[in-house]
Amino acid sequence: MMAKRVCAFCGKFDQTTSEHLFGQWIKDEIPEEYKTAKTEHAVSFISDDGVLKTKRGVLDRRQGNPISHKLPIMCLECNNDLGNVHSSNKPVLRNLFNGNWNDFDKINLAAISQWITMVVMDNEFDNSRIVRIPQEYRQAFRENRKIPENFHIYIGRTNNVCWGRKWSKASGNGLHMLFVIGHLVVLAIYEIKEHVNRNDIVPRHFKLKRIYPSISENGVDFLDIKASELMEGIYEMWGMFGWITEADALAPKWD
Ligand SMILES: [Zn+2]
Repeated sequence: MMAKRVCAFCGKFDQTTSEHLFGQWIKDEIPEEYKTAKTEHAVSFISDDGVLKTKRGVLDRRQGNPISHKLPIMCLECNNDLGNVHSSNKPVLRNLFNGNWNDFDKINLAAISQWITMVVMDNEFDNSRIVRIPQEYRQAFRENRKIPENFHIYIGRTNNVCWGRKWSKASGNGLHMLFVIGHLVVLAIYEIKEHVNRNDIVPRHFKLKRIYPSISENGVDFLDIKASELMEGIYEMWGMFGWITEADALAPKWD
């Protein structure tokens, strides 16, 4: 018997189904050796007295790959309707995961942006403390696939393949979420208030290409990011203070 909960998307109190946070079909794309991986789940936060605390280890160790994680966040009806956002992007995403970016110019980036938006909306619920997107935005997405105001999406291609890494940072300003699936690197930023100088947010050397709300002109400089460059970029962009950080990292280490 499924428990009744408030659906994160339509807001109805109803039976909820377990939603795959990255889409059901993706779990079948994960190479065998990554499927049984344990996840190192680390959470850092600033306590009320201003001290940075990090919880790491046994308490937060999770079974399985973060990419195949499921949560009961939406009703059957929403699950059925929104499933199409996952399935319609499957052929393109599969190419991006596997490093086949030759047809990048022909990709429907608006459709991919919708998939990323839904993944971020779902993954926020992995830790209730990082939820920043208001329910009305999920409802608008449910109704007409509308991407929220002040949402920004960047993608890149890494040459260090990694099947399952996710970082989230939440603050009073909003949420940043970054994940790697195969060769695909995604950075999504939701701001509660529009940032005054957008160029300050994502480091220029980060080699990511903006695909939403407008597509940046750079065509090739988003290719072949090294894992070390990505980690440096994250550190520069986020620093350590004033945020709630959540990281899901597969063991063994990614480098
Ligand atoms: Zn619903």
